[in-house]
Amino acid sequence: MKYDLHVHTTASDGVLSPAEVIQKAYRAGLSGLAITDHDTVSGLREAEEFLQKEPLDFTFIPGIEMNTEWDENEIHILGYFINPLYRPLLDRLVEIRQLRYQRAQKIVHTLQEMNYKIEMEQVKNLAEGEMIGRPHIARALIENAYVRSIDEAFLKLLGRGKPAYVPRYKFQPAEAIHLIKEAGGVAVLAHPGLIRDPGKITETIHLGIEGIEVYYPQHSSEQIEYFLAMAQQENLLITGGSDFHGPGGEENRNHLGMASIDATNLRRLYNYCNAKKKE
Ligand code: AMP
Ligand code: ZN
Ligand code: FE
Ligand code: FE
Repeated sequence: MKYDLHVHTTASDGVLSPAEVIQKAYRAGLSGLAITDHDTVSGLREAEEFLQKEPLDFTFIPGIEMNTEWDENEIHILGYFINPLYRPLLDRLVEIRQLRYQRAQKIVHTLQEMNYKIEMEQVKNLAEGEMIGRPHIARALIENAYVRSIDEAFLKLLGRGKPAYVPRYKFQPAEAIHLIKEAGGVAVLAHPGLIRDPGKITETIHLGIEGIEVYYPQHSSEQIEYFLAMAQQENLLITGGSDFHGPGGEENRNHLGMASIDATNLRRLYNYCNAKKKE
């Protein structure tokens, strides 16, 4: 039994719709998945409606991924089983998506000043949902034949320290963790192996993190061992997922189920969440 707890859809910067990723995962033999779109919960309803119409023997876990920043470190916080109707969370997500939009405008403007032909209109059309992110700008750059892949767009232009980099709006892990817990969810540290300053891993955990994404495509086997030991030491739940954004290309992030957890770790997550709800 394999459960992929980190999947993006068209509601954020993925290329398959919520129904499409579930069908793909089911056909690929996964037992379940979590949709974890960036800074939005708008894909969760479609997923649940799809499974009501088409009852499959398949576990669906509602989630979110919040992209935060702390002292120049990208720190992503996953939230599972949040109440998707919790107002303070929804209101803050609306604000964050507006700030994302403004950031995208600044990036496009910077690119135009560098003589790249790119318009906000094109980027908006590539974003099918309500959230805009750098991958949508990367896709516009691919369409306009400036780069061949999303990775190349980040390496040459959009990544931190590159010429078209625009700093993120202020949104820190402490706030994301707080919002997830207030909304009844479980706060998990996403892909700790990608955090630039390793000291920030334990610092973030001590802000109130409840689980750690141990299994992740870019984690080496040494990192997996290290984070498993950290989970035990810090008494954290163990999660994992592929960070699937869509099929195609040689991009990483394109293999559904490439990282996952087993039924035991999934049961621990459920038990933890149920115990919390009873408190
Ligand atoms: P943003 O949230 O707008 O800052 O964009 C960052 C997002 O881009 C990450 O959460 C990833 O999902 C996605 N992404 C895709 N390819 C890359 C890459 N090569 N480097 C960094 N981020 C990437
Ligand atoms: Zn993404
Ligand atoms: Fe992430
Ligand atoms: Fe992700």
